[in-house]
Amino acid sequence: MTFPTHQYYGSTVQLPFPSATGGKLPTASISLLWPSLIKELPYYMTLSCSPEVVMSTLCGSFWELEIPCNLVGPWLHPLLNEVLSGTSGTVNHDYEMLALMGAIRRPNISALWIGAATSGLAPKIIQKVRRGRPPLDALAFPWTGCPQSFMDTAGSGPYTFMNAEYISRPDVWRLLHLPPKEGDDLCYRNRPSTPWAPCGASKTKDCALRVTSHLRCNRHEYHYHHWNWDPEEGAVSQDYGFSTTPISTITEYPTDLLEIKKPKTFQKKELDQMASREASLDIFRWFFINGEGIPPETIYEDDWLKEIWDEDESGEEAGEAGDQESQGLAATCRDRVETWLSSVA
Ligand SMILES: [Zn+2]
Ligand SMILES: [Zn+2]
Repeated sequence: MTFPTHQYYGSTVQLPFPSATGGKLPTASISLLWPSLIKELPYYMTLSCSPEVVMSTLCGSFWELEIPCNLVGPWLHPLLNEVLSGTSGTVNHDYEMLALMGAIRRPNISALWIGAATSGLAPKIIQKVRRGRPPLDALAFPWTGCPQSFMDTAGSGPYTFMNAEYISRPDVWRLLHLPPKEGDDLCYRNRPSTPWAPCGASKTKDCALRVTSHLRCNRHEYHYHHWNWDPEEGAVSQDYGFSTTPISTITEYPTDLLEIKKPKTFQKKELDQMASREASLDIFRWFFINGEGIPPETIYEDDWLKEIWDEDESGEEAGEAGDQESQGLAATCRDRVETWLSSVA
C-alpha cells in the first residue's frame, strides 16, 4: 500500500529479509483480526492512490493538538533524539519502534504504519516530521479519521472563554478561514501549511470583523461531503469515505503493548529550536500575508518572526503580499507628498 508513496517521494522500497528466529507470537489470535482487515482493505487501497494523503497521515501521527507552534522542538525532541537514537540497537529496531508509536497514536492506520516501516519509508517520514512543516493534505483527515492539524478540529466551548476580552489564536485562525459574511480585502481561503497551532491568545479588539462577528456563535466547522469516482465508462458515483463518527486517536491501553523494563537515562542534548521556529514563522506568516496591513499585536515584533518583515521589505513574496506592498508604498508616497506640501507652504 505504501509503494505509490515511495514512488512519489523518490524513496526506494527496501524490504527486510525474513528471519527464521526472533519472531514473536501475537498475543491476540490473528484469525480474529482477519475479517476486519479484509473489510478495511478497499479503504487502504483507495488511500494508497493518494501519496500526499498517505504521507500527510503518517507524518500527522506525531502532530498533537495541545502543542503550540513554539513548543514543537521540545515535543519532537524525545522522538528524534532518544527514541530514534540509532545507538540502542539496529536502525531497523528504530523503525519498528516508530511503527509501534505510530500505531499506538493512530490505531486506525496501524496497518499502514507496519507497511511504511517494513518498506523503508520511515527515514522519509522522519526527515519530514523533523521540520516544523510536514506535508499536509486537507483531505487526509476526512479520509482517515486521523486529525493532523489544528484546523481539522473545531475546538470546544465558547469562542471567548474566561475573559471576554480574549480569544485563543487557534480560534482566530479557524474563524479567519471561514467564508466571509461580508466582502473584505482579506484572503484566508487556503489553509496554513503547518499543522501546529499558533500560540497564545489575541485581544478581541485587535481582531478583524471576520473574527469578531462570530464571537457569540456556536462553533463553526467544515464537514467533508464526498468525492466522485469518475470512471472512463459509466456514470460518476459519489463516495462518502470511511467514517463520519469520530475515531479515538490513541489506543486505550498502550501499556498492554509495551513491556517497560527499566527507566533509562539519556545523554543531555542541547534543545534544537529549528522545528519550533519554522512552525511559528509559518503559522504567523499565514496570518500576515493573507491579512491587511501591519498586525497590531506585539508578538509580530518577536525575533523568531523577523523573517516575515525581511521578506516583505525585499519584495520576495508574490501574490497577495504584493497588494500589501503596494498599499504600503502608496502610504509612503502620500506621506512624502504631505511633507513636500508642508515644506513649500
Ligand atoms: Zn458565526
Ligand atoms: Zn456540524
